Amino acid sequence: MNAEHARRLNELLATRPPILLIPHKNPDGDAIGSCLGLMHYLQAVGHQVSVLAPNDFPQFLQWMPGASEVIRFDRQPEAGAGLIREAGLIFTLDFNALDRSGALAEPLKQATAPMVMIDHHQSPDDYATVTYSDPSMSSTCEMVYHCIAALGGIGKLNADAASCLYAGLLTDTGSFKFPSTSPITLRIAADLMERGAVPSEIHRQIYDTNRPERIQLLGCALSNLKILPQYRTAYITLSQEELDRHNFRKGDTEGFVNYGLSLDGVILAAIFIENTDEEIVKISLRSQGDFSVNAMARAHFEGGGHINAAGGRSTESLKETTLRFESILSEYAKDLQP
Ligand code: 5GP
Ligand code: MN
Repeated sequence: MNAEHARRLNELLATRPPILLIPHKNPDGDAIGSCLGLMHYLQAVGHQVSVLAPNDFPQFLQWMPGASEVIRFDRQPEAGAGLIREAGLIFTLDFNALDRSGALAEPLKQATAPMVMIDHHQSPDDYATVTYSDPSMSSTCEMVYHCIAALGGIGKLNADAASCLYAGLLTDTGSFKFPSTSPITLRIAADLMERGAVPSEIHRQIYDTNRPERIQLLGCALSNLKILPQYRTAYITLSQEELDRHNFRKGDTEGFVNYGLSLDGVILAAIFIENTDEEIVKISLRSQGDFSVNAMARAHFEGGGHINAAGGRSTESLKETTLRFESILSEYAKDLQP
């Protein structure tokens, strides 16, 4: 975060406005971690802060300090709309376009409060008074740390804030294995540990609190794995019937897509998950190296994301969607062929 960002942010905070923090729809560890991490910091320096999420987030993130204070717009639309109306400053965290906040997009477009975007996705929209966007960053949680540092507030980072920010660092870097993990990311992780985050416990809460059904759903997903060696690609499907059979809950399929990439030689992995309620197939794409799944998601699946991790959707059937996916691979043959 540069000095000009910090100066303008300080100005916005100086009047002590009621602050509202917003993560993207279907919030992940980085979205919830950055909201709650920033909430704990701002509260520690005397601000009035609320977190408003478009919808639910997975059980494996509910341990985060402050998680029970998050207000869900799908459950409490009137309270949520009131918070937006009354806010004097709104932070949007871990997304680059208001549409990514689902049903909150419309009320946010009507909001009169100035906005601050902190985000690491490519191509940020131009809606905020302060846009702190940096796609080279490992996570929005890392950016929140830099933001707090620029405000001179690192000394006010307590164990609750540190734990939430560490959780976002951990999840968005794939446990510090993605190339977005820099020496600075690791130094920040170390500092958060010194401020009270307990890495072994955070890792256990996120990755080792599975229900048996989830592991069995993983078995089902892996048995559906299809490998296309001519395109160094592997993909997984899960039908609504398979999800129902395993008592699917939000977050259960998190990380499944990465199993495709764990195959030797595979550089593009996908998962296609049927959602009959929303009448869509939700798509997650992952890649290794220079192949941009952000470009593929934008061009073919109404989505976006980062170069190596992106998502999107299709309104065709599961079968039609995977057939279309297979057929577009030839467009990328030059990059995908071994
Ligand atoms: P995931 O596959 O874990 O849902 O998402 C991977 C990345 O792609 C995340 O950074 C997420 O923000 C982005 N992403 C996922 N779904 C969508 C989508 O429908 N639209 C856009 N623009 N980005 C998405
Ligand atoms: Mn993120």
